[in-house]
Amino acid sequence: MEFQSPRHSARRTVKNSSKLKSEYPHSLQLYSVPPNETIGLQELEDWAVERLKVLRAIERVNLSKNARFSDDWKNALKNDLQKQNLNSWYQLSSSIKDEKMDELICKTRQKDHVSHFLLRLAYCRTEESRRWFISQETDLFRFRFSMENSEDIRVFMKENKMNFQPIPEEEKKKILTKLIHAMPFNANKIDMVEYYKVPFTEALDLVRHRKVYLQAGYAYVPNEELVSIITAMFRSHLSLAMALTMRSLPELEDDHRIRRLLNDFDKRYTGQDFNALQNKSSGAAITPEMLDGLSKQSYPLCMRHLHETLRSTHHLKHGGRIQYGLFIKGIGLSLEHSLKFWREEFSKNMDIDKFEKQYAYTIRHNYGKEGKRVNYSPHSCIKIINASVGPGENHGCPFKHFDAAVLRQKMATNRVPQPAIQEIVDLVTRHHYQIACQRYFEATHNTELDSGIQHPNQYFIESQKILNGEAKEKPKGAHKVQTIRATLPAKVEKPDTTDENDEILREGKDNHFLIFRLHGNHRTNTRFQHMIGVTIMYT
Ligand code: SF4
Repeated sequence: MEFQSPRHSARRTVKNSSKLKSEYPHSLQLYSVPPNETIGLQELEDWAVERLKVLRAIERVNLSKNARFSDDWKNALKNDLQKQNLNSWYQLSSSIKDEKMDELICKTRQKDHVSHFLLRLAYCRTEESRRWFISQETDLFRFRFSMENSEDIRVFMKENKMNFQPIPEEEKKKILTKLIHAMPFNANKIDMVEYYKVPFTEALDLVRHRKVYLQAGYAYVPNEELVSIITAMFRSHLSLAMALTMRSLPELEDDHRIRRLLNDFDKRYTGQDFNALQNKSSGAAITPEMLDGLSKQSYPLCMRHLHETLRSTHHLKHGGRIQYGLFIKGIGLSLEHSLKFWREEFSKNMDIDKFEKQYAYTIRHNYGKEGKRVNYSPHSCIKIINASVGPGENHGCPFKHFDAAVLRQKMATNRVPQPAIQEIVDLVTRHHYQIACQRYFEATHNTELDSGIQHPNQYFIESQKILNGEAKEKPKGAHKVQTIRATLPAKVEKPDTTDENDEILREGKDNHFLIFRLHGNHRTNTRFQHMIGVTIMYT
């Protein structure tokens, strides 16, 4: 691959569509041969960022409740990609026979090829990032594979020298009962199923799950299970390639342009820029007096922790001031209001002169009024999660940087229901910090959030949309509304609940029954359960 700076990009080689078509005949690629073409640096970076967005979308969907590769999973992934205007990344299928789409498809296949190799360079450095990349790439491959028809799969296998041949009809008839026994198909369907005879060592996953018939060292694999074998080959091919890429990295990094491009690429934020001085979600200007209320309603845990620490200690160290200062700027606090807010708080511990000399500069700097005069953007989750946090510092992401016991206590104080706390802590143990934050949002807003959390300011906007009634609330477990009857104890008072949807109604002349309408808020349910001593069933 050769790289050109943007000013040379006008001269770059643009391949015509017929050349691209012959080079990329298929939507599926094993990425065996690196690209050998001249590409503008800017274009290269754009393609790599697009691929990164696709892989992150896969990660998000994998952490949803949909079973992997189920129809719901595929639809969720398509929706996510559509929202980001990335549908071309899955509309590559060879089965799309549309002349107009042809050029776009071939161009995207080229983009797919080139960006894969660039991300290999970015993700080969550590064991953890290699594992992440291989996992998302394998899922992307399998997702695309599932969209191909059997003819295209045959062509793909032939091109990649995967010599799996379907067994002849006579051989199939001879062992038909055994094949059906190994994996039952209905009698009408079995005629349409093609079986491939594969050395059993290449189908270990299917053997492990007892999904294939074995005979004389061969596994008889139905065509719809072939994906499992081909995906395993893709994965092992990619693992090997990543190890080789890592070895050649020092040589490649001699080029300062590629070094600059790859530096921290895996930590790059790929979402919306929240460098706004206007709170677009409500259209109203934010003032310092509003921050206490907003911090309780709409701040993510990282910012709420910083706000509360600032209020209680009247001080934040440098990392906290930058992280929180940029966040409040992003939600719409003006420079004047920001100075007033910090000054009032800090002056409880120091005189105003000291504040003006030592701290006001950083605040004006955040707003691009000092130093290089850059209008800095609020930090994204990835940046905050990857920050190093020393003793006595309060910035960072609580899901990453808090001790589990402290995190539990913090969430309990913020009235997160116990089952949700447990789920969040489990996610944190598996290092899924942003998903944990999403569950926290869902638990504190009693709603489901499809978009995931990528940025503290996005969290804030989503929360405000719900509180202002601009987003449709999707109650968690919307189908959990249930009527329950129970014998009324001598005296029952309405429990102290913050959820307006919870109701206690009396029914019958003697007040002998209660009807509870529940909205899936486990904490509230538990409290009701405790009060009246009945078992409440969740649907
Ligand atoms: S995941 Fe992001 S928004 Fe949530 S607490 Fe961590 S840094 Fe803040």
